[in-house]
Amino acid sequence: MPELPEVEIVRRGVAKRITGRTIEWIRLNRADVVHGTAIPLCAALHGRRVKRVERVGKQILIEINRRVALMVHLGMTGRLTAVPPEMPIEPHTHVRISFRKCSFELRFSDPRRFGGIWFLDKAAGEVGWVGRRRPLVGPDALEVSCREFAGRLAHRRQIKALLLDQRVLGGVGNIYCDESLHRAGIHPATRADRLSDGQIRRLYRAIRTVLAQAIRAGGSSISDYRNVDNAPGWFQVRHRVYDRKGQPCRRCKTAIKRLVVAGRGTFICPKCQPPRRVRPRRSPRKHT
Ligand SMILES: [Zn+2]
Repeated sequence: MPELPEVEIVRRGVAKRITGRTIEWIRLNRADVVHGTAIPLCAALHGRRVKRVERVGKQILIEINRRVALMVHLGMTGRLTAVPPEMPIEPHTHVRISFRKCSFELRFSDPRRFGGIWFLDKAAGEVGWVGRRRPLVGPDALEVSCREFAGRLAHRRQIKALLLDQRVLGGVGNIYCDESLHRAGIHPATRADRLSDGQIRRLYRAIRTVLAQAIRAGGSSISDYRNVDNAPGWFQVRHRVYDRKGQPCRRCKTAIKRLVVAGRGTFICPKCQPPRRVRPRRSPRKHT
């Protein structure tokens, strides 16, 4: 599943190609992948110019103006690719967007359809909403301050469950959660409110480092992820724990273990990430 680094790579590729371009037409091969305000999408966007392409957590926001935007969620298997119009249309291509005076079109494909496209019109608000609700996203993992991050961890839930909750922190999924917890030396089942201030600072820095390194490596391609040119990333070869069960820890040579935490397959080094109890922090924190 694409996480922050993969989505950021796709965003950069899409932004480079379509910012400032005018939408010629939109073709929906499957209307039910589009959710949002009940305005006929194709008519609403025909002839409109793309102002900018942003990222919100794991979602890509194609902004037309302050009011109107398309939000693309890649879900598990979603891809946005820029291809020449004469390229044969692959199965599961649900949406095609063509631009004026342009040698490519943008295609959204998603075999498993956990992703989708949300048509957002602020003026219409919640009136006439069609299809799935837009996923809620907390502060971005690369932009949140250490202080706000610490505040969001003041919770009895397991640290892994909290990091995966997009409403708590936007962008981190299973891969980068496991990689960050290993670098910070924290067991994923640790109660978040039992982490020391030092552990929280280490985790904060680990998340930023891992995400930045992964972006530089073009993301991780475990199964489906491809960038806008349909090319894979290679950060998976630098994973320290994720998908490395039985292989030696890159730090201490202990065999990596797989367990289930927060309902997800989880990879840890039992030596670097001991499940020890840590005394609660002295500073008072709210339990929300
Ligand atoms: Zn280790």
